[in-house]
Amino acid sequence: MIQGTYEIFMRIAERHFNNSLKGRFILTAGLGGMGGAQPLAGRMADAVILCVEIDPERIARRLANGFLDAHAHDLASAIAMVDAARAEGRATSIGLNGNAAEVYEALLDRKIIPDVVTDQTSAHDLVYGYVPAGRSLAEVSRMRSEDPKTLMQESRATIVRHVGAMLGFKRAGAVVFDNGNLIRTQAFEGGVTNAFDIPIFTEAYLRPLFARAIGPFRWISLSNDRDDIRKIDDRLLQAFPDNHILTNWIALAREHVPFEGLPARIAWLGHGERTSLAVAVNRMVRDGALSGPIAFTRDHLDAGAMAHPNI
Ligand code: NAD
Repeated sequence: MIQGTYEIFMRIAERHFNNSLKGRFILTAGLGGMGGAQPLAGRMADAVILCVEIDPERIARRLANGFLDAHAHDLASAIAMVDAARAEGRATSIGLNGNAAEVYEALLDRKIIPDVVTDQTSAHDLVYGYVPAGRSLAEVSRMRSEDPKTLMQESRATIVRHVGAMLGFKRAGAVVFDNGNLIRTQAFEGGVTNAFDIPIFTEAYLRPLFARAIGPFRWISLSNDRDDIRKIDDRLLQAFPDNHILTNWIALAREHVPFEGLPARIAWLGHGERTSLAVAVNRMVRDGALSGPIAFTRDHLDAGAMAHPNI
């Protein structure tokens, strides 16, 4: 998720911002299991990223693991923190506790237009994922079992406002995209007939790479040896010095991405390049250059995901 999100931000930088997000403002929401990668990816992409999250515990978790740099106590201080970081060209990530629909609307009302807007709340699930405006987490938790029908209606009504604000940002010139959480579909079903004016990240930014057979895959040290991942990093940098996406990513990942569980790395390589790396690693295992076996896996962001119209 960190790398996928990072690559989307970098493709946006290339296409819309002269290759750099320095001093640029990304607005997003949702700091859950997957969405929690956004602040780190945004900071790695050199941007100022504001992440709205309804659950304070999710913010605390991302502050604790270093993915989030700072926590704003209210909207006014969030805006001040964003402005200060932008003025200094300082990359940073800021968490703000609140409902995304309400915060997006409040920013739009104040005519504060971010450079890039997306969202990674669990909008695909109107009962167990998304939290409607005006409801506390405790109320939502109770409604999940006692009144899921009302909860669904309220979630959809809030998503209509949420996507309405995203469309407003788009009209005002922001680069707005759907990050694979079905928010456009939910809004469309709630009556926002132009919800699909917002492009989806796959179609807008990643399909062109897939069309050139460039996609993500990952490898894991099954013997739990971090040094093996480092040696494969070195091998990659030697083997593909002209692959800018790869060399850029490996340097950043080494510096910023913590190992969680077994040491692993993900990278984007093209057709033929993936095979050549796998064969080289096989040889390194056989020759004893690595301490144990390496598992290669696909990523969920594969050709199937890429071909799906709405993911
Ligand atoms: P999650 O349920 O772990 O996290 C969602 C977060 O959104 C939670 O922390 C929740 O408190 C917060 N939230 C819900 N409603 C909110 C609201 N109105 N305002 C502010 N915060 C709100 O989910 P996840 O694993 O992080 O995934 C998020 C979404 O992204 C899902 O819809 C998922 O399907 C999608 N997804 C996309 C990709 C991709 O490739 N782009 C990959 C994985 C997941």
